[in-house]
Amino acid sequence: MSELELMAEADRRARSYLEGIEQRLPFPDQAARAGLSVFSELLPDEGRDAVETLQMLDIHGSPATTASNGPRYFGFVIGASLPAAAAAERLMLAWDQCAATYDTSPIAATIEKIAGRWLLDALDLPRESAVGFGTSATACALSCLSAARRSLLLRQGWDIERDGLFGAPEIRVVVSETVHITVRKALRLLGFGSVHLVTAPVDAYGRIDPDRLPPLDEKTILCLQAGEVNTGEFDPLAVLIDAATKAKAWVHVDGAFGLWARTSSRRALTEGIEGADSWTTDGHKWLNTPYDGAVAICRDAEALAQAMNSDAVYATASADAQKNLTLEFSRRARGIPIWAALRTLGRAGVAQLVDRHCNEAAWLADRLRESGFDVLNRVVLNQLVVRYGTDEQTAQIRQTVIDTGAGWFGMTVWQGRPALRISLSSWRTEHQDVAGLAEALSTAARN
Ligand SMILES: *Cc1c(COP(=O)(O)O)cnc(C)c1O
Repeated sequence: MSELELMAEADRRARSYLEGIEQRLPFPDQAARAGLSVFSELLPDEGRDAVETLQMLDIHGSPATTASNGPRYFGFVIGASLPAAAAAERLMLAWDQCAATYDTSPIAATIEKIAGRWLLDALDLPRESAVGFGTSATACALSCLSAARRSLLLRQGWDIERDGLFGAPEIRVVVSETVHITVRKALRLLGFGSVHLVTAPVDAYGRIDPDRLPPLDEKTILCLQAGEVNTGEFDPLAVLIDAATKAKAWVHVDGAFGLWARTSSRRALTEGIEGADSWTTDGHKWLNTPYDGAVAICRDAEALAQAMNSDAVYATASADAQKNLTLEFSRRARGIPIWAALRTLGRAGVAQLVDRHCNEAAWLADRLRESGFDVLNRVVLNQLVVRYGTDEQTAQIRQTVIDTGAGWFGMTVWQGRPALRISLSSWRTEHQDVAGLAEALSTAARN
């Protein structure tokens, strides 16, 4: 089979997968998972046939996917893939661009620059900021926090690029009690061991309590949250950022999914966020772009460009080339699916997507309360944390609902109590899917 025929065959199989996405179980059943044993083969000495390889992947692989690209996947904050973003990604595969610099790909460099500007516009963040397109909110937090570390040390007269960390002035890092684990990971990789992190106590909703904010100074990085991973709550950004600005601390905001609230009628949650120094958000969660694609946004463009610089004699580029703003040197153009999503949704479409999920989450919370569930969070966004009766009943209800195929969602522990964690973030999720989930949960609770 020729290359083009093989690609057409892959397309045919992809189309057939998508045609069935609404019927697919959110989590593959036991038989489908058992089918994965066919992949347990030894590395072949001689190459195998490409068509047969594709067939194997589809026949045994497709059934063992989670239907996270479908309408009833309520786990984590996964999001699906918007058709326009997935189509752009498909074309990009044929291009196979290395989107490091203008020299390696004029089209990638051009569109990513525009996508960066559009993001600052959509999210209403300082227009002078640098925008780096990285693999994940984790990697982008690492980039932003590197810029923070560099800047605060430079102010103390310390050049980290030259002198490294040994003997450097101490940088304090203040994080929320409910900080996301990946921000901890980024800090750990940057040399801020866990005993050096100062924990800011939170209020009953899991937001940093401004009255108990640890002291800040010009050697402090304050990490805030726009969208806590369980509850979707926002730290009181305006008052905290105001305090940090007065103390000349650096503020980094983890907005992996929550930052998108700023585009919607929930914008008030993000009030004051524009005063921070750096922000991270994902495309692959709430914007519904394919994996993997995220953004590092840094007000001080020069700080990010210096911290992430990777110019070499054989590969020089402008300070704002993507390879100088992100961890990756060779990379695909993650900004292009984000550009395609923004272009096809428009400002209004992004707002509608976010609002629809928030409204559905509020509706679901009401239904579940009526059915006797304890809704542990305030449901300010797209996240629900719920329990029913005992820990055992709660876990049993989850399993029953998953078995019916009405939805998949995970468990969490909120304020010491195991609970179901339900997220609404797929563009495919319609009211009937949420109603189906409510019905399945209520039925499981009654029995
Ligand atoms: C998912 C998430 C992250 C990490 O994002 P990745 O893209 O998975 O690295 C960080 N913070 C919050 C609040 C998240 O929900």
